[in-house]
Amino acid sequence: MKNNSSLGIYIHVPFCAAKCAYCDFYSLAGHPEQMDAYVRLLCQQLTRRAPQCTDYTVDTVYLGGGTPSLLGGARIARLLHTVQQQFCVAPDAEITVEANPDSMTDTFLSAARAAGANRLSMGIQSAHDSELRAMGRIHTFAQAQDAFLRARRAGFANLSVDLMYALPGQTASLLLESLHALLELEPEHVSCYGLTVEPDTPLGRSHPVLPDEDTQAELYLLLCSRLAQAGFEHYEISNFARAPHLRSRHNSRYWAQLPYLGFGPGAHADFGGMRTAVPRDLTAWLAGDAKPVCEDADIDRAAEYIMLSLRTADGWDACHYRTVFGRDPAPVARALDALPSDYIIQAGSRRHLTDRGFLVSNAIILAALDAAQSC
Ligand code: SF4
Repeated sequence: MKNNSSLGIYIHVPFCAAKCAYCDFYSLAGHPEQMDAYVRLLCQQLTRRAPQCTDYTVDTVYLGGGTPSLLGGARIARLLHTVQQQFCVAPDAEITVEANPDSMTDTFLSAARAAGANRLSMGIQSAHDSELRAMGRIHTFAQAQDAFLRARRAGFANLSVDLMYALPGQTASLLLESLHALLELEPEHVSCYGLTVEPDTPLGRSHPVLPDEDTQAELYLLLCSRLAQAGFEHYEISNFARAPHLRSRHNSRYWAQLPYLGFGPGAHADFGGMRTAVPRDLTAWLAGDAKPVCEDADIDRAAEYIMLSLRTADGWDACHYRTVFGRDPAPVARALDALPSDYIIQAGSRRHLTDRGFLVSNAIILAALDAAQSC
């Protein structure tokens, strides 16, 4: 029997084979000796938490990282079996595992699939080995192609690939070659992320020269138009799906402000009206000393709705804003309607940004937030 409310489960896996030069996600290179203890403790925490969630049906599970595929098939299977045993999981739940080509062994693929995983999110990033090396990625594009095809053969009908743009020295033709090579694999979903240089990373310390702002904008618009030509729906700033049912349901949950639990150091949760984060400290977590801490106790959910909804193709909905938050939508609607028509589209009570609008979404969101506060 389906319970009333839906719930997502995010599990953070903080292990990577090596750190990429640009990465500031919470992950540590190496530490294979800690993986068994890590999975054991995660299973205990899932089991302890489940009795508080009996009113919920879990319809998305996401193993992110880090590099979950590095855990190998047996550990992934143990985690997913624990989720299935302890929670009420919908038969059609989306169960995603992030995977990197260098750790997508056949054993991992078959065990993950048999344990219920039905979607992989693959970090491929580029079809040029020189770019992969410059970013500190430890796989080649040939490895990525091979891993993708083996994932298909293992029964994964829903595969997402990540592509990075605005890399140092990247031209439009280099980017299009990467996109073309990825599309030849026929993925169901593509995520495109512009490289951001975080100061406290090897890449940041090397002070790379990125394409200038105009070139970055040109690269982004190029990706949008080529993916549209290839039949992809641009449903969020960075995300493209071959059909609406192939959107990432788990990430869409974040953008729609729906509840989710988070497990593992660095994981966030939004459950019972409370936003929490687990400290990013594997050693403390394994010792039981990294309890979730409450964050943003005074979070303004209406403001957050403005920020999140304007990142999506569904957009900001004046009726939702009034009904759910009890706020007058008129000032926000006026601010959005004052934008040039190539930035925004109005459809009934909804307003959503165009590809050009997404390019300047930060400024648009600020203007909408200012308008919301002025009333
Ligand atoms: S594989 Fe992903 S999480 Fe791991 S270091 Fe690279 S970018 Fe970071």
